[in-house]
Amino acid sequence: MTEQSFDIIVVGGGHAGCEAAAAAATLGLSTALITISTENLGEMPCNPAIGGIAKSHLVKEIDALGGIMGRLADQSAIQYRRLNTRKGPAVRATRAQIDRFRYVRNMTALLHSLPGLTVLQGEVVGLSVDAGALRGVITRGEEIILAPRVIITTGTYLNGLLHVGDSMIEGGIWGFPPSRGLSESLAALGIPMGRLKTGTPPRLKSDTIDYSVCEEQPGDPLVRQFSFSGPGPVLPQVSCHLTWTTGDLNTIIEGGFDRAPLFNGQIGGVGPRYCPSIEDKIKKFPDRLRHHIFLEPEGLESDWVYPNGLSTSLPRELQEDFIHSVPGLEKAKILRYGYAVEYDFADPKALYPSLESKHLRGLYLAGQVNGTSGYEEAAAQGLMAGINAARAHVGKDPVIIPRHQGYVGVMIDDLTTAGVDEPYRLFTSRAEYRLLLREDNADVRLTGLGYEIGLVSKKDWEAFQVRQTIFEAAAKMLQTTKISLEKSGELALKVGTTPPKEGLTLREFLKRPEVTFASLMEMGLVDPSIPIYMGERLESEIKYEGYIDHQQDEVDRLTKLQRVPIPKDFDYALVSGFRTEWIQKLKAQRPANLGEAARISGITPSAIITLAAYLDQIKAHSPQPK
Ligand SMILES: Cc1cc2nc3c(=O)[nH]c(=O)nc-3n(C[C@H](O)[C@H](O)[C@H](O)COP(=O)(O)OP(=O)(O)OC[C@H]3O[C@@H](n4cnc5c(N)ncnc54)[C@H](O)[C@@H]3O)c2cc1C
Repeated sequence: MTEQSFDIIVVGGGHAGCEAAAAAATLGLSTALITISTENLGEMPCNPAIGGIAKSHLVKEIDALGGIMGRLADQSAIQYRRLNTRKGPAVRATRAQIDRFRYVRNMTALLHSLPGLTVLQGEVVGLSVDAGALRGVITRGEEIILAPRVIITTGTYLNGLLHVGDSMIEGGIWGFPPSRGLSESLAALGIPMGRLKTGTPPRLKSDTIDYSVCEEQPGDPLVRQFSFSGPGPVLPQVSCHLTWTTGDLNTIIEGGFDRAPLFNGQIGGVGPRYCPSIEDKIKKFPDRLRHHIFLEPEGLESDWVYPNGLSTSLPRELQEDFIHSVPGLEKAKILRYGYAVEYDFADPKALYPSLESKHLRGLYLAGQVNGTSGYEEAAAQGLMAGINAARAHVGKDPVIIPRHQGYVGVMIDDLTTAGVDEPYRLFTSRAEYRLLLREDNADVRLTGLGYEIGLVSKKDWEAFQVRQTIFEAAAKMLQTTKISLEKSGELALKVGTTPPKEGLTLREFLKRPEVTFASLMEMGLVDPSIPIYMGERLESEIKYEGYIDHQQDEVDRLTKLQRVPIPKDFDYALVSGFRTEWIQKLKAQRPANLGEAARISGITPSAIITLAAYLDQIKAHSPQPK
């Protein structure tokens, strides 16, 4: 048998694997994507949605870097909603309901269109390592496929065990077998492995739901797509529906606590605190009798409905009972029961920030296998692993996105320095410089980097530059266009702000909390061809100018501090307010300057600022040369 040989092998065809394979192949490497089933590339095993708070920031960053998730989401979106529109710009986000069948079809078509990529069906059961060097992977058919670089993106499949009541079925997700052997192969390299859990609700048949008693949740009239290369075509948009549980659901679930795998010791893995099952919610908040349930369609032509909020691993008969207790779902037919999945994950602290393993050169891990949860988190890691494996192949340094440049950087830094003790998901609160990391400026932060890497095409790079020119012209126009006192007063009344004492520029007018860019557009004061997301960026940068400048100053200060030397015999214990763990880490590694110190796992920006202040103090008090 001839051995197949590639530059890079990606194991897994979920969100991390597809993104990694697309990046590596686009960068010109001969790439194989090996997956258990080629029928479900980019499968969404849980909610049919992409985006949401902090997650949409990731999607936009992926898109700006030249990744694929944003474009595919736009091609498959059946409802867009803007979240947190009344809150500050850092937390505004986009969420799209996705036709998950179309998403898989679009992903399959895209991957098959990439010339350097070969998609293979098979299960990888181990790594082939020779004298400490990675040779490739071993499949269940005992075939060895060669590649000096391998990216593992196996999601929830490693020794996956599905739970529905007391029935336990081996599986990676429902309907697909688990991955056996690979987890042991990783452990044999010395990679610490752990066990986590996640769950999903039952799926319901649409025409058995009584929508007349539910609240309709239409999408936004103004569609805001993810991809900066848009606007692209928009599929017909549909509504979701909202209903609420009643006290009857609490009674049914409380009566079944003893049969809940989560409570009777059957499930050992740790689940996501922020995304609890319905039985968890009832146990923790027994007095809360009303929980909202969003009924989300899974596709345009599909009759499958995802009842968001009802994740469960209770026995089937209890699922039937509690579903039928919910108004609108009295007659709902369950198409597939909810279940929980327990799976092995690899400690991400055993990875470099490039996502390469510290235990084996050439081995990279990305996605849920690193203890994260969520399609967007997986895709962002997959993209970076694909980029870095491809760069390593041609002898280039890895790309490490700093925390102040993108959520991708925040997440990877969190994972590789602090590790996980529950499925990790991204929140805006995880970022120190939230106002710099907005959705509306993801292209400004990362398109240049994507172009330099080689993933952003020349056409998209030029389009970005045109957008920048439009943006700058619009900013100038706001600054220079003055409206008369009379007109300013008229407009102030219209938007409900105090009439000014003198005529204002549009910029001054927009600085007021009550005035939005959209309202200026409605009043015919700005060019209607300025894209709305660009207007939002202008609004954020004008309204929050002071805060943004402050965060940028801090980032600049930290960047400058990197070069400050640390004396060789420096006693870290003398720094007041310094944590013991920082002292231990710095003592053990003895960094030569603050830049090196900042790259040590667990040494946070605040540790660096405290240390810098102390070093500055000693310098000020040390005798000056005469
Ligand atoms: C039941 C369930 C509930 C979930 N609930 C939520 C939720 O509420 N919120 C949330 O954010 N996320 C949830 N998720 C997680 C979300 O689905 C994942 O985070 C995301 O899909 C992870 O992407 P990934 O690419 O890392 O892995 P996956 O999407 O799981 O893809 C793994 C891929 O690897 C392949 N594979 C595995 N082992 C091998 C092998 N040995 N050889 C070859 N191929 C292999 C599989 O075939 C698959 O293609 C849930 C997942 C499941 C299964």
